[in-house]
Amino acid sequence: MPKIDHTKNVIELRGVSFGYAAEPVLQDINLAIHQGDYLGVIGPNGGGKTTMLKIMLGIQKPDRGEVFLFGQPVGQFQDWSRVGYVPQKAGNFDAKFPLTVEEVALMGRFGKRGLFRRMIAADKEKTLWALEQVGMRGHKDRLIGDLSAGQQQRVFIARALAGEPEIIFLDEPTADVDVAGQEKFYALLRKLNSELDLTLVLVSHDVGVIAAEATELAHVNRTLTYHGSREEFADLRRATHRH
Ligand code: ADP
Repeated sequence: MPKIDHTKNVIELRGVSFGYAAEPVLQDINLAIHQGDYLGVIGPNGGGKTTMLKIMLGIQKPDRGEVFLFGQPVGQFQDWSRVGYVPQKAGNFDAKFPLTVEEVALMGRFGKRGLFRRMIAADKEKTLWALEQVGMRGHKDRLIGDLSAGQQQRVFIARALAGEPEIIFLDEPTADVDVAGQEKFYALLRKLNSELDLTLVLVSHDVGVIAAEATELAHVNRTLTYHGSREEFADLRRATHRH
């Protein structure tokens, strides 16, 4: 992978406003996410975090403003293999769901290979590499529904990784995961960010954890009430708690 350039924008929102109905959900959001950022998007329930994510991914079109992905207007963006996504409640399969860990992770290659093209050795190799990164290669032949929520979550990260993205979006990814699983999960994200140079955008209502993990924070409550470094955010919190 080419060296990352921390001044380069991966995502940019310019003057973005949006409402599902008359009521605005997001108002005049200006936000740039740079290569190598590990951004935690925080804010109260209903504050607009998921909506902002959808706008970044072009799933919702803003009423006003512009959205750029890798420097291109999101409406024209085509190269979706550069973007990985890990959904809420990834770990939701029941024990009889008939796919193995390896098969689930291999789906991450569809973006590269096309849904109906045959997978080749390189796809399988990349998939096993991705499972290795998340510590799940040893479980590759188990059924996905047979794993804990935390393990399933890591398989979904492997699925995203298998597509060789440059940025991964994660939306409330640890909702069902126990504490031990969460610690592993955040250690994995740190590694992906610092060793594989992946840009990460993590949406969560859990300010305590995210403020300790992400290097940048964006607080969304209809407007962008804060965007800056974790350290600055910690100083602000201390200052407000003193009064
Ligand atoms: P958060 O992720 O911060 O909890 P959301 O982006 O999910 O916030 O929601 C922001 C606001 O938009 C909430 O008031 C929510 O009820 C509303 N909302 C979210 N999705 C939809 C939708 N599909 N249709 C109508 N209103 C929605």
